[in-house]
Amino acid sequence: MRYIKKGEAPKFFNDEVSTLKSWDEVSSEFKRELTKHILENEQNSLCGYCEAKIRDVAKTHLEHVVAKHKDLEKFTFDYSNIIVSCDGICFQEQQGFTCGHRKDTKGFKPDKRFLNPTKTDNIRKYFKYTPAGLIGASTFGKDRATHTLKVLNLDSPNNYLPEERKKSLQRFQKSVKEKSEKSGKSKQFIIKHLLSKENFAFISFLRFMYKDILNE
Ligand SMILES: [Zn+2]
Repeated sequence: MRYIKKGEAPKFFNDEVSTLKSWDEVSSEFKRELTKHILENEQNSLCGYCEAKIRDVAKTHLEHVVAKHKDLEKFTFDYSNIIVSCDGICFQEQQGFTCGHRKDTKGFKPDKRFLNPTKTDNIRKYFKYTPAGLIGASTFGKDRATHTLKVLNLDSPNNYLPEERKKSLQRFQKSVKEKSEKSGKSKQFIIKHLLSKENFAFISFLRFMYKDILNE
């Protein structure tokens, strides 16, 4: 997971929500506009939890990190509490879904241990990966990381994520090779440059795989 630096709420957001009382009143046009705004400006078009690349806005949802609740109305229209999550439905029938929808499933409620990606600027330190694409808790805050992975179902070895992480690494390696050959620059230089843009699918996994080059 990567830290999501929330910006100021855009004007269209403030204008719209000033007239609303509940999330149910939010129009689908507004949701689409807000989703695009957040993906482009804050999330580099990556799911806020699993970091899958979002290619179709229709397959996402606006996710309240602190769940909306009658007693917590202030969080419903708190821009800093809203991120974009993928719909996480791959292999749903067999394995249960991931990310935002999973988080709202009974029995998987986040609590104080849950790592909020908008509030935890060193969130990457909590996780480690294997070359096979599996994610786990690092020794840094193991309890919170393990809890967060379970709440979001990001660490199941049976869902689509390990395979997708591996594919992303293969695409990245291909891209590095091509760019290095074309420009004559070293692979190391290209790797650092591409990873600094933070817009590749599963960017935290990629950065972990190249942590020696990045000195992380
Ligand atoms: Zn996701």
